[in-house]
Amino acid sequence: MSTLTIDQIADAIDVTCDTVIRNEKYFSDLDGLAGDGDFGTSLATGFKVIKADLPAIEKAAIGAMLLKISMICSKHVGGSSGPIWGTGFMKAGMASKDMAEVTYHQLTDMVGAALEGIMARGGAKRGDKTLLDALIPIHEKMQEMDGSDLGAVLAAVAAEADKAIDETRTLVAHRGRASQVGERSANTPDPGIVGVATILYDWCKHYGVDYTPTAAELNR
Ligand SMILES: [Mg+2]
Repeated sequence: MSTLTIDQIADAIDVTCDTVIRNEKYFSDLDGLAGDGDFGTSLATGFKVIKADLPAIEKAAIGAMLLKISMICSKHVGGSSGPIWGTGFMKAGMASKDMAEVTYHQLTDMVGAALEGIMARGGAKRGDKTLLDALIPIHEKMQEMDGSDLGAVLAAVAAEADKAIDETRTLVAHRGRASQVGERSANTPDPGIVGVATILYDWCKHYGVDYTPTAAELNR
């Protein structure tokens, strides 16, 4: 079974920062279709701090590193995204504790802990047109696979998030600001789902994993 070291996880977080910062305007524009248009800026504000602080964060225990990142999210990511992303990193950190590397099985449990925390924190469930509609199938796919080929896992989870964009596009949002505009949220993609899918597609590109996305939002 494959393992991931703390340095590899830190590198993936650094790549995530670049994705979020580069897409600040695009994610806010998407959010503006049915929400208040702050998603890209909220997320980028926090991830700029993560990008700047990451080199100085101690790389001894994955849990401690993720808890530091969680605190940055809670403090610097604005809107409803701060507590959601902060909770995700906190729960993943609690599931990895003082480990300096994790097995694929432990990584899968970290994703499961993060999404359960986000569900409890935001009160959303599957089908509410939130990032959970990407994270839940990603976790299920990870449970199905044995993790012997991490590149294959990355391509498979990128495909789950990509698929979630189109599968939820016509749904009416039930959580978050987009739920307040009701029907106007139908036929617009959820920015959180697009965010997760964009991060995973960028990971594919960064780590040399072949993946051809389907959703228009990933083919810009
Ligand atoms: Mg918003």
